[in-house]
Amino acid sequence: MSKSESIAIVGGGAWGLSTALHLHRTGYTNITVFETADSIPSRYSAAYDINKIVRAEYEESFYTDLALVSLIEKSLKRADQLTSSQQAIEAWKDPLFGPYYHETGYIVATSGSALAKANKSLETALASVSKHPVFAPGIQALDNGDEFKKYAWQITGPLKGFTGYFNRLAGYAHSANALKGIFLHCATLGIKFVLGRSAGTVTELVYDGQGNDRKCTGVRTADGITHSAAKTIVASGAWGASLVPEMGRFVTARSWSVAHVQLTEQECDYLRGLPVINVRDLGFFFEPDPATRLFKLCPLGAGFSNTNNEGTSLPPMDRIPPPQDFIPADDEIKLRTLLAETFPWMADRSFVDKKLCWFADTSDSEYCIDFLPDTNNSVVVLSGDSGHGFKMMPIFGKWVVELLENGRQNIDRWRWKTKDERGQDWGDGVSWRIGKSRELSELIDEARRGGLQARL
Ligand SMILES: Cc1cc2nc3c(=O)[nH]c(=O)nc-3n(C[C@H](O)[C@H](O)[C@H](O)COP(=O)(O)OP(=O)(O)OC[C@H]3O[C@@H](n4cnc5c(N)ncnc54)[C@H](O)[C@@H]3O)c2cc1C
Repeated sequence: MSKSESIAIVGGGAWGLSTALHLHRTGYTNITVFETADSIPSRYSAAYDINKIVRAEYEESFYTDLALVSLIEKSLKRADQLTSSQQAIEAWKDPLFGPYYHETGYIVATSGSALAKANKSLETALASVSKHPVFAPGIQALDNGDEFKKYAWQITGPLKGFTGYFNRLAGYAHSANALKGIFLHCATLGIKFVLGRSAGTVTELVYDGQGNDRKCTGVRTADGITHSAAKTIVASGAWGASLVPEMGRFVTARSWSVAHVQLTEQECDYLRGLPVINVRDLGFFFEPDPATRLFKLCPLGAGFSNTNNEGTSLPPMDRIPPPQDFIPADDEIKLRTLLAETFPWMADRSFVDKKLCWFADTSDSEYCIDFLPDTNNSVVVLSGDSGHGFKMMPIFGKWVVELLENGRQNIDRWRWKTKDERGQDWGDGVSWRIGKSRELSELIDEARRGGLQARL
């Protein structure tokens, strides 16, 4: 592919922006990003948020195996011997991404009432870093409440039965600010952006030819304009299957809850420096955002889908789930329990800015970074972030450039999947999620019947 050929990227979220940046860095000169929101950070992006965890622990062996190879070879200097997550953490420290990264450390824990699945998930995550030469010196086992408080002195709650560990080499990134910063940087590089519901929303991919000759020739936007492109890269997160319906066979739009407590200036200052704390059976939180003084919490669970008659789950197409400002009652209970165990003084505060946030989920939590079959490599699909894709933002686009330049995906697990899982309820089986997945319609009924009260 010539570097001057046109490339359309659909979606200006974490992966679309990273792809635009890395394509530019590799010398591609004709890149246009289409984004349905009228500004970036897009309020529809899963990363439209004050923070996302950046950590290297993984339960499964892909990243860990690479790390073990580097351990055996006793050389961690070469970037290709570092795990993807390590590379991502390193890349967060470069001057472009650095302003958004905060290496506060990371506590992973289970409460005294955690189910075996939560404990197992913690143990396998710990195993992936505890013997690793890069991480091991910064790992500390935490066997009781007092040990937790050495690393998070602000905690005043009882931490009943809590066990876990602290990892010094991890933290969080301010995700909305990172999207904004990289967008502005890309714009100054000459990458074009077409924003807004009418001009920026891609309504369809335009194809030419039949059978073996079928090729995508560009995108059509909601204002009826056709934009030609030699390559079209679909990076539209949870909405992917609305443009590439075949994706809906193995990608499920799923959401998790997000809630915040509004702190005073003094409370905010008091909690500064807090590590990210992730209690596998309850939820996680971050140090408060100094600009808004919001303290963000996310309950952990199997998430919520919005499945249509064909068995495909997509976010509500009006993009504003009715009612918008709620989280399910079970999630509210989890967060209140989490606060009662850690910061009891906050446990009865109202939650503000409650929302369901949508991502693109796969049953094995693997990304899909591949060409769409039967399009003569004219369409690239970036999907299946599975709720753990933001941390890769600084390096993700490199993998897309490699795909384009190799002409095929050499990493099996990131290939387009041929399986059809529509109608299968695999959400509860994901090893690192505890609880039952539910349908959005059920939650909305419950919220209308009075939410928490209806549940109790
Ligand atoms: C509650 C929650 C917590 C998370 N926590 C973490 C975490 O701690 N750490 C981590 O690494 N990851 C986390 N993630 C996952 C992370 O946010 C995603 O992996 C990441 O945002 C995926 O990037 P993306 O570009 O694929 O999708 P998005 O960032 O969602 O971007 C997709 C973009 O496409 C646009 N779009 C969609 N359709 C169209 C269209 N037709 N035309 C034009 N534009 C379109 C959307 O408006 C959006 O801006 C979390 C996700 C959620 C929901």
